[in-house]
Amino acid sequence: MPDLTDRCSAEHEAQRLQALADYRILDTPEESAFDEIVEVVSIICEAPIAVINFVDRDRQWFKSEKGLGVRETPLDISICAHAILQSGLFIVPDTTRDPRFSSNPLVTGEPNLRFYAGALLESREGYPLGTLCVLDYQPRDLTERQRFALQALANQVMAHMELMRAHREQAELICELEATRHELAKRAATDPLTGLLNRRAFEQRLDQEVALIQRGAPPAALMLIDLDHFKRVNDTLGHQAGDEVIVRFAELCREVFRQADVIGRWGGEEFVVMLPRASVAEARHAAERLHQRLAITSMRADSATPLYISASIGICSLSGVSNMDECLHRTDELLYQAKEQGRNRSICEPEGVPAHRSFGMDSSFRP
Ligand code: GH3
Ligand code: MG
Ligand code: MG
Repeated sequence: MPDLTDRCSAEHEAQRLQALADYRILDTPEESAFDEIVEVVSIICEAPIAVINFVDRDRQWFKSEKGLGVRETPLDISICAHAILQSGLFIVPDTTRDPRFSSNPLVTGEPNLRFYAGALLESREGYPLGTLCVLDYQPRDLTERQRFALQALANQVMAHMELMRAHREQAELICELEATRHELAKRAATDPLTGLLNRRAFEQRLDQEVALIQRGAPPAALMLIDLDHFKRVNDTLGHQAGDEVIVRFAELCREVFRQADVIGRWGGEEFVVMLPRASVAEARHAAERLHQRLAITSMRADSATPLYISASIGICSLSGVSNMDECLHRTDELLYQAKEQGRNRSICEPEGVPAHRSFGMDSSFRP
């Protein structure tokens, strides 16, 4: 709890302002819940002016007001700024007889305020944030019942603000949880080395696509890619260089394939690509582009010695398959044929003939 005996200290004032800022009420639009409280307090206290007022750093700002016609005024002529320096109700029966206010321009001139009664709006921790106050043009007082109502309604203003804050904090928490959940789901679906979909996530996506195709969606194509003689990269250049090659290959795939194509790391040096709305012939063209890019792209960008690798690819249509496993099995067989036939090539179904003989020699591992 704040030390209320020293309400004038700079430290207390800074904490008070922070407490006020934490409610995020300043400069918000008018709201009927607050307007109704102001209306009710004006009726009960029989006062022409009623205000929900917050004392900010150098102004007093009105969340709701009746009879004033402004949303804020400077602090140096504020009566409420005095009210928040003490606890309980602050009542000035006749402002012209109170030396603190007798020369205040709001008292000596328009609107000639003569009577003030304010109940503190206190934060949960006990910081005085402002007042619920009523004012009149003639000197007067409040009855006991009116005093009680003024304080009770001030408590209701704070209760409503606490609810608004709790509601906002809860919404923010839900937002954070949602972001964390999203991040966790993303991580669970991502291969950490390449940032591509991992095998499980790819399988899920593939399963969905097969189901869609079975229900009449356009066919898609599936590609299984295996880097040729990759073990030699590790054996000659080390595992780290092998990792670099895998990362670079993933980048190359992102460049070569369409935005809509789904690329995954199947495991080790094997990759999978699902090309929605693509025929086998279109997939074969994409595979050709990949073979061509591999032939001219060194897989070690930072190394003085270029390193070229090749890949073998099996390509299958996702139309007419009864399930994902069947499709993967067929594509794996085609990949195996590509290896058998000398690597560095793609084999497509249904013909089972090499669709593309890439550049020259057998697997072009040229460290
Ligand atoms: P093939 O042309 O028949 O595919 O021969 P290959 O050498 O590519 O195939 P093999 O299955 O014999 O070797 C694959 C190698 O890939 C062995 C394994 O150590 C390596 N490998 C698998 N995952 C990773 C990885 O994350 N990083 C590195 N650096 N190497 C990996
Ligand atoms: Mg392999
Ligand atoms: Mg391999």
